[in-house]
Amino acid sequence: MPFTLEMGRIALAKMDQAVESHREYLTELDSAIGDADHGINMSRGFRKTMEKIQGAEHPDLGALFRDVAMVMMGSVGGASGPLYGTFFMKVSQKLAGKDQVELPQLAEALQEGLNGIVALGKAQVGDKTMVDTLVPALSTLAAEAEGDERSAWDKTVAAAEQGMTSTIPLVARKGRASYLGERSAGHQDPGATSTYLLLNCLRAAALG
Ligand code: ADP
Ligand code: MG
Ligand code: MG
Repeated sequence: MPFTLEMGRIALAKMDQAVESHREYLTELDSAIGDADHGINMSRGFRKTMEKIQGAEHPDLGALFRDVAMVMMGSVGGASGPLYGTFFMKVSQKLAGKDQVELPQLAEALQEGLNGIVALGKAQVGDKTMVDTLVPALSTLAAEAEGDERSAWDKTVAAAEQGMTSTIPLVARKGRASYLGERSAGHQDPGATSTYLLLNCLRAAALG
């Protein structure tokens, strides 16, 4: 089943709901190793995204995700705004003119998004960031994309969850948490957690 424009809209609505229902949790995680605003930042981003896209007509997935990128870059502060903004911008460029894509193409577009995050933030796996969730998840998706779709998404989300929890023992080397040095160990990274939530929503939308 291709991933359609309608699935893209559904995914964003699910992301908005997931971020809203985990707002306090994300902020709590960020209060341990950051400045206690990740839930607020993500909530603002998706609330404003929903305002922007509701009632708007998007010709294709590129245009839809471009709107998300513009909101994330323009109205979400901190590290996560520009990083998620770049992610959605790169994805949108890859999906320009497409009102639906097959899973391997979607996987490629998401990989471009991750490349954008790495180009901007310079984080590698093990630095205790959202990259720790994205790398295993998207390499799993790319490897599984030609096979059974449900199994591909299930494995992707399982890899994302492992990536998210892998951040717990890590010492942060990027972002605010890195200011804490060794004291950042023992806490799950907020950005790795929000990324897991978003991928879970993408899975749910794609499987219908
Ligand atoms: P801020 O730290 O500016 O308050 P947020 O709290 O919204 O911004 O987001 C923090 C998250 O951003 C971290 O948990 C981490 O996952 C992610 N992050 C920070 N710096 C980087 C980076 N250089 N590369 C990738 N992700 C990063
Ligand atoms: Mg913060
Ligand atoms: Mg902040």
